[in-house]
Amino acid sequence: MTMHQISHHLTDSLLMAYAADALPEAFSLTVATHISMCDECRARLGAFESLGGAVLERSEAVAMAEDSLSATLARIRGGAPVRDRPAPPRKARGVLPAPLRDYVGGDLDAVRWRPIGMGVKQAILPTSREASARLLYIPAGAAVPDHGHRGTELTLVLQGAFVDETDRFGPGDIEVADEDMHHMPVADIGDDCICLAATDAPLRFRGMIPRLAQPFLRI
Ligand code: ZN
Ligand code: ZN
Repeated sequence: MTMHQISHHLTDSLLMAYAADALPEAFSLTVATHISMCDECRARLGAFESLGGAVLERSEAVAMAEDSLSATLARIRGGAPVRDRPAPPRKARGVLPAPLRDYVGGDLDAVRWRPIGMGVKQAILPTSREASARLLYIPAGAAVPDHGHRGTELTLVLQGAFVDETDRFGPGDIEVADEDMHHMPVADIGDDCICLAATDAPLRFRGMIPRLAQPFLRI
């Protein structure tokens, strides 16, 4: 969906936890959204899933019918060859990948943004409360206030790009931040930046104003 070469990917532990269905909803939404944009992580996930499946099969010791592999392959081949499949309907200028559209109830025009200061807006998505997921809208050139993390923060870029102390992140890139990391993401000048961010603990802001506003913003 994008010409940008994705260069920041999911960690093995996130992919494994996702394959085992062990992530809080906000994190699995973020992982699923990255996977929908990233062939590389989709392939790595497939490897973890078949690994998990092999472990299960061995532990259940179910005798498989002798022809089960060829039957499975035949079933796979039975599907229409890739080149004959109709192209998926083109979403007119959609920004949100499919896993996110379900949560938002549409594309960007369905997002209910709330200002959180300095031009930055957020929309909290409905997930279970162990972790929270939000869309962030950072105007071109604007910054998210300098902060650290009490837990894990996943930030996936959907549009535009941001730069922080570690690197530059463009569409499809995901940043995995933990307690050791302190950063101030700044959106590129060229385009407003839209991200999906998931956190399992409140952020640690340095400035007084963001700290005071924090409980109201649930950030
Ligand atoms: Zn990836
Ligand atoms: Zn952060």
